[in-house]
Amino acid sequence: MTLKIDIEKAYDSVGWPFLSDSLKDMEAVTSSSFQILWNGTLSEEFKPTRGIRQGYDLILLSKTTDNQANLVGAILDQFSRFSDHKFIIDKIRNKLNYWVTFNLSLAGWVTLAKASLMTIPNYFMQTVIIPKGVCEQIEQIARRFIWGGSKDKSKMVLVNWNTCCQPMTHGGLGLRSLQGQNESFIVKLGYQLLMRPEALWVKVLKSKYKINETLPITFKTKNCSFVWRSLSRVWDSIRENVTLVPDAIDSCAAVRDFIMGNGDWDLNNLRVLFDEETVRYINAIPVPRDDLGEDLPMWRWHQSGKCTVKTAFSVLNRSNWDTENKLWNLAWEFDGWQRIRQFLWLILHNRLMTNVERTRRGLTMDSTCPTSREGDETISHVLWECPKARMALIRMLTTGGTFLGY
Ligand SMILES: [Zn+2]
Repeated sequence: MTLKIDIEKAYDSVGWPFLSDSLKDMEAVTSSSFQILWNGTLSEEFKPTRGIRQGYDLILLSKTTDNQANLVGAILDQFSRFSDHKFIIDKIRNKLNYWVTFNLSLAGWVTLAKASLMTIPNYFMQTVIIPKGVCEQIEQIARRFIWGGSKDKSKMVLVNWNTCCQPMTHGGLGLRSLQGQNESFIVKLGYQLLMRPEALWVKVLKSKYKINETLPITFKTKNCSFVWRSLSRVWDSIRENVTLVPDAIDSCAAVRDFIMGNGDWDLNNLRVLFDEETVRYINAIPVPRDDLGEDLPMWRWHQSGKCTVKTAFSVLNRSNWDTENKLWNLAWEFDGWQRIRQFLWLILHNRLMTNVERTRRGLTMDSTCPTSREGDETISHVLWECPKARMALIRMLTTGGTFLGY
């Protein structure tokens, strides 16, 4: 077989996983030798890390055995990992180099990070798990910029990243950790694999990996494609959070035993077998009728039974979250500028860079208020205990001024 690979094109329009899948799927071709012609030069060994550049055609001439087909697939796999990685990070750096000229506040950076920076990898994360190192590298860049650092220099981090990545009602900034986001995408993909048995890609994958059950216990992961390996990584999460309806009901009883003559669920009867929460779940499911077709998998965490990235993210990550607390709404519901909300959030975290905090961090020995020299500069001192702050506040209130310019 001859493969002409235009790196740039393949990059933009054909997913690498697809390319390597295709190669592996050519297992039917059997022969004896394996050669590569690259830009007119015949070589015996193919090393993708040496000299391949975007825009160059890559010609692979090969009469393959099973082994050789797999080998080419594996090499492209590796190559794609490296390339995807660099590509995404370059893209993020480019955006940042542009934004950094705007000199934004914390609030500005958080908004940008949420709306743009952290969503750049989304496209690539929808079908494969990207390496942990790549996620960490991107988050490191984002983290640095949020706290006012630059490409090469980090600044003081006031609230740790783990907290920032929690939902806003849990004390965070509502950023999503990339790995968590990535896994949520794959969970959704897996859910679609269950829900769309008629789709071509599902048929192909299922027949290739010989999957017959509706909700297989596990996947064979030896010698499989990138997509399949990614799916297998989150498969347990999918299984745990999907219910087969109506097979999930006690195997001794038939579903029809719980349906009344008028076609509604027999809730009293269900309560004999299940706790109230389960009954609520069942009640949310449309009552099965003969004309409704086969059982379908349902996502437990959405009334519609459909898996969304948002619910998947919550299911996968909530065990790491702090408890939800109405306290945080004090900051987020403040009717004013976003940067004041952000400032209130820092206060609630007790993380203003006061002299007391700077002393705690070993940055200074002097914890007193530099403005009034009356006592330690704590947050409450800065806000109202300091005589000078109080005077400013009084002046502002009596002249009808506002919190401008903070
Ligand atoms: Zn003071």
